[in-house]
Amino acid sequence: MYDYDLLVVGSANADLVIGVERRPGAGETVLGSDLAVHPGGKGANQAVAAARLGARTALLARVGDDEHGRLLLDSLREAGADTVGVLVGGAPTGVALITVDPSGDNSIVVSPGANGRLTPADVRAAASLFHASRVVSTQLEIPLETVVEVVRSLAPDSRFVLNPSPPRPLPSEVLAACDPLIVNEHEAKVILGDSAGVSDEPEDWARLLLAKGPRSVVVTLGGEGALVASSAGVTRVPSVKVEAVDTTGAGDAFTAALAWRLGTGDPLDEAAAYAARVGAATVTKEGAQVSFPTAAEVAEL
Ligand code: ATP
Repeated sequence: MYDYDLLVVGSANADLVIGVERRPGAGETVLGSDLAVHPGGKGANQAVAAARLGARTALLARVGDDEHGRLLLDSLREAGADTVGVLVGGAPTGVALITVDPSGDNSIVVSPGANGRLTPADVRAAASLFHASRVVSTQLEIPLETVVEVVRSLAPDSRFVLNPSPPRPLPSEVLAACDPLIVNEHEAKVILGDSAGVSDEPEDWARLLLAKGPRSVVVTLGGEGALVASSAGVTRVPSVKVEAVDTTGAGDAFTAALAWRLGTGDPLDEAAAYAARVGAATVTKEGAQVSFPTAAEVAEL
């Protein structure tokens, strides 16, 4: 028996959000709305999203001993996530500076802070969490050597889900463990490198990514839904039509929902279809963690 449906290993950031009429270009200054501070970061987002859906969730992360760190811990606890693996201190809590335009598109700059101090030794020290978790999910807002240690720490029959964001080339050891690797268009192109130039078709990216070693691949396509690729072939997951207000966190909610549903035994295409509903519900509200739906809200969509 597993104590947790999902262990998320990853970042925790304070999201500093300003609404703008249009996002500034290089060298340009634009005036925006009042500043809003929200708990965020891809790891904390995934943990809150999964816990709010009802998954038994733990987070392994590092925050600073500061106001932003306490904001994050409060948000995790309020959602019902276990914070036993959240380490405190070593650097200020990570920060993401986010601008959102009226169409809901965003630009983000991240200062990793304490996330950059989540080490392979921290992963090894959390061995009991890995043994207690059915699915382990991570992203790339923590050091790559820490992600490699996560892969080496997986329990023999647990499942590993990776959203390589922000994207960078990955060692084959990490790629081979992914089931699935979850990417958007930008992430797909960075992971594929030169071979992405051969086609504009997401189906082709999915096939090329699969050839790099993951057991399965999911390509998210925003309002167009997603693609699922495995040895069984490539299938489309339709999107749910909603009015997008703010896309921040859609990918994190999608990944968390998919990871949880895989852990409950759903096949990949069904887990992705559920995750698409969760992603769609997320974009109908502003912010990241505050916009994640409960299972009841997903059912109503
Ligand atoms: P972000 O980086 O903004 O968190 P992402 O680029 O990683 O997001 P997306 O592809 O934008 O991920 O969104 C993830 C999933 O959420 C999509 O595959 C889709 O199912 C759902 N989704 C996102 N945007 C919309 C939308 N406008 N309408 C309906 N569903 C959406």
